[in-house]
Amino acid sequence: MLKICPLASGSNGNCIYISDGNTNILIDAGISATRIIRELSMLKIGVSALDAVFITHEHTDHICGLEKLLLRAEVPVFASCGTARGIGERIENLYGKVSCISPGAAITVGGLSVEAFHTPHDTYESTGYRVCSADECAIVATDIGHIDDEILPKLLGGDVLLVECNYDEQRLRCCRYPVFLKRRIVSDVGHLSNKDCAQLVVRAVREGTKNVILGHLSAESNTPKEAYTAVHAALTQNGIIPGVDMMLYVAPRGERGQVITVGE
Ligand SMILES: [Zn+2]
Ligand SMILES: [Zn+2]
Repeated sequence: MLKICPLASGSNGNCIYISDGNTNILIDAGISATRIIRELSMLKIGVSALDAVFITHEHTDHICGLEKLLLRAEVPVFASCGTARGIGERIENLYGKVSCISPGAAITVGGLSVEAFHTPHDTYESTGYRVCSADECAIVATDIGHIDDEILPKLLGGDVLLVECNYDEQRLRCCRYPVFLKRRIVSDVGHLSNKDCAQLVVRAVREGTKNVILGHLSAESNTPKEAYTAVHAALTQNGIIPGVDMMLYVAPRGERGQVITVGE
């Protein structure tokens, strides 16, 4: 059995809870520690029950609650070596507090196996994670500039895929972001558009993924409805009916999303 619940997902805060019912981990701590603890308590999980925190990369929307969280709970933190370095550079008190893991090599935390994989994003060494219980796997991948042959296989074959659906191209063109930021977002090391996400989701569902959560939506250049509609349209064009053949969810930006449970 595997449970996944986005406590927050979006360009101003990311924190994803995953559990097999015994082992509890977080992917990212990009909202305040107070909020993390509150949201976990709503799921009946005390902060002391956390077994590990895995960080995707050192951008603020992925680490801003980490320092205070570690004051409230003695929990090991893992990230790629590049991300561990980036975190230490940004938050002095976290220097040396993040254990370095190698993408491609799974580590075991309680009943979960967790493997990092590289994502194309503008930091030292950003990663996504594949988290597996005995029988099920969830894949979390946000902040993906583009899909290439290296990352694609890492995104396929999960029971649950939480993937970035960051911006609508038209909205991004018209929104009030400065030009340099728009260029960064659409670049190969920025974020994934609704259109590109939709193509990826079609591929993943064809390869057997039954639950897809669209995450890391931009506040300025996307809406939950547009993200959902873009992916829904691509699926139905390819003969896949969301709600029948698979389940499609959107992670809310500012609040906890649904708990999705796969397996017995
Ligand atoms: Zn981000
Ligand atoms: Zn980022």
